Amino acid sequence: MAAETPVDSALDEVRRAVATAMQQFGPDYWREQDANKTFPTEFFDTIGEAGYFGTFIPEVYGGVDAGARVASVLVEEINRAGGDASSVNAQMAICRTLVLHGTEEQKQRYLPGVASGEIRFLTVAATEPDSGANMNELVSTARRDGDAWVLNASKVLISFAAHTRLMILLARAEEGTTLFLLDLEEAGDSVEMHPIDMVAHRMTSSLFIDELRVSDSARIGPVGEGLPCLMKGFVIRRVLAAAEAIGNARFLLDRSIDYAKTRKTFDELIGVNQGIQYPLVQAYMKVEAADLMRWDVLRLVDAGRDAVPRSAMAKVLASEAAWETTRAALTTFGGWGLASEYHVERKLREGTVYVFNNLLMNLIGDRALGLPKKG
Ligand SMILES: Cc1cc2nc3c(=O)[nH]c(=O)nc-3n(C[C@H](O)[C@H](O)[C@H](O)COP(=O)(O)OP(=O)(O)OC[C@H]3O[C@@H](n4cnc5c(N)ncnc54)[C@H](O)[C@@H]3O)c2cc1C
Repeated sequence: MAAETPVDSALDEVRRAVATAMQQFGPDYWREQDANKTFPTEFFDTIGEAGYFGTFIPEVYGGVDAGARVASVLVEEINRAGGDASSVNAQMAICRTLVLHGTEEQKQRYLPGVASGEIRFLTVAATEPDSGANMNELVSTARRDGDAWVLNASKVLISFAAHTRLMILLARAEEGTTLFLLDLEEAGDSVEMHPIDMVAHRMTSSLFIDELRVSDSARIGPVGEGLPCLMKGFVIRRVLAAAEAIGNARFLLDRSIDYAKTRKTFDELIGVNQGIQYPLVQAYMKVEAADLMRWDVLRLVDAGRDAVPRSAMAKVLASEAAWETTRAALTTFGGWGLASEYHVERKLREGTVYVFNNLLMNLIGDRALGLPKKG
């Protein structure tokens, strides 16, 4: 039984449509994509054809402007069906920076193709080898050269870099951090990528940019305001991450409950044991509570109110609930939880992506509790 979510027939419609679409892309499809580290092109194109990539794009640029509730249900349901919504999440949400801060020319040129899925826009390149979580200390630079810019960058842990056409690059200009929209079809060999071998998010790369010259029309937002422009998208990114984690947790709960009701040892269903039941009950309660926080964030977003601290709380609670659910699933499946055919170990690996929460705790300590910040 799912949490008391808002009664909304449009959202029910999205849930039904995704469930139907996911019949073609069941857990075994995802097991294969994961093992081969391939981009799920067929799945991605199917979601694009259904019009979902335009969820945050205004109709005037070819989108449907359906908003954050629809986006969150979409990614949750993909994961709940055993899929990996990360590419859909990225395609829907990253373009919001362009919608909010892009020029008219950039929006007209790219957004209709992003909405249809013809143009992949999957990547923000911000993290660097030496700065990591601290994006104020960038070594990647943007140097003015007449009317143009010359970019030099060294970025790590960049998702889908080798599978995207558009990428937002965060670099440091003289005035401060600045965003650039890179069309990788036009970037030539100034951009070099190397895959990083990861247990999850297996299409992640390092990225080096050497003296790439771009015109000022590639800049997004004001010079020196790159980080604040990027951060305006973080509330939605967090709520979508929370929804993805909730989807993963529900997939594992559904499977574990089913297994506990059918698997017999010593002539008895394993589900009769408190050692199996309690971890599932605990996990279920935490997922339901995190889901309520997810809907509360969406309420604040819709009302145009400050959702920053609560979005951080929703993401932390959902990712931790999903992590606990994975542990409960492993207890339920025993040794078979580690066999790829049961999909628990894949979701265990995918769940690791969400549990880096320290900086969100800092944010909650600061914004919700008013605790002192480090100097
Ligand atoms: C699967 C995956 C995909 C990613 N995709 C992208 C992407 O597409 N684009 C992109 O730009 N980046 C991406 N990242 C990078 C991600 O944003 C970084 O991992 C993150 O910014 C932290 O940087 P770091 O890993 O170098 O850790 P570090 O900065 O070295 O930090 C190490 C640990 O110390 C903690 N820590 C650091 N400072 C503090 C502090 N002040 N208080 C408390 N704890 C602290 C961190 O939380 C972390 O747990 C991705 C990462 C992963 C794992």
